[in-house]
Amino acid sequence: MGDDCQPPGPPPQFAAADSPQARELRLAMVRRQIEARGVSDERVLAAFRAVPRHAFCAPRTSLDAAYADHPLAIGQGQTISQPYMVATMTEWLAPGPDDRVLEIGTGSGYQAAILALLAGEVCTVERLPALAATARERLAALGLANVRIHEGDGTRGWPQDAPYNAILVTAAAPRIPEALLEQLADGGRLVIPVGGRDVQQVERVTRHGDRFDRRPGEGCRFVPLIGAFAWPE
Ligand code: SAH
Repeated sequence: MGDDCQPPGPPPQFAAADSPQARELRLAMVRRQIEARGVSDERVLAAFRAVPRHAFCAPRTSLDAAYADHPLAIGQGQTISQPYMVATMTEWLAPGPDDRVLEIGTGSGYQAAILALLAGEVCTVERLPALAATARERLAALGLANVRIHEGDGTRGWPQDAPYNAILVTAAAPRIPEALLEQLADGGRLVIPVGGRDVQQVERVTRHGDRFDRRPGEGCRFVPLIGAFAWPE
């Protein structure tokens, strides 16, 4: 068997954004924060080892902070989740190599970059134009050509490219927006934090025809999902 059987690795542009020190911190992050807490999907772990998380942080963020075990401010009052939370939600979403994935809440673009390595196509929606613009630049600089970033209210989903095999919401919703269920393909998974403004629980909904199976997961704290079918501004 030749290399043809292997999934494509990260684009060559990743190396230019990296350094031996960043790589060492990142491998430690995966071992101590992600694997040690039970994330075991090899494709997911490989994506977290590959994506330079520091390239998605504000310019003056130290490398130590970029790879630390906590959420990080990304400007505009928003945050990028703790690495473990990004990883466990990604594992639960289980994006396959040919899947079309929708993310609501592009933020820094970090989660979208992880999804880009795992799925066929990623469509991500961000309501704040400044964050969408920065994320677009970062993903282009890293050579991730299978991600499209849209500005808009993700509580309406993104009907133009529906249906999706997987939908991931990275902001906290008071309830599951109906449009996201409608845009889920048969067999598709929706992973979303649901609850109050301060604390929530990650939920996974799996679609089987017209049936939607809901499974509760871990407790979490996300910034609010703001839009027509979530929290008011
Ligand atoms: N996934 C991001 C982190 C997201 S933080 C990352 O990897 O960095 C949550 C993001 O959701 C914020 O950027 C916020 O502006 C955005 N957001 C909140 N409500 C939204 C909505 N209705 N539609 C799209 N994006 C929304």
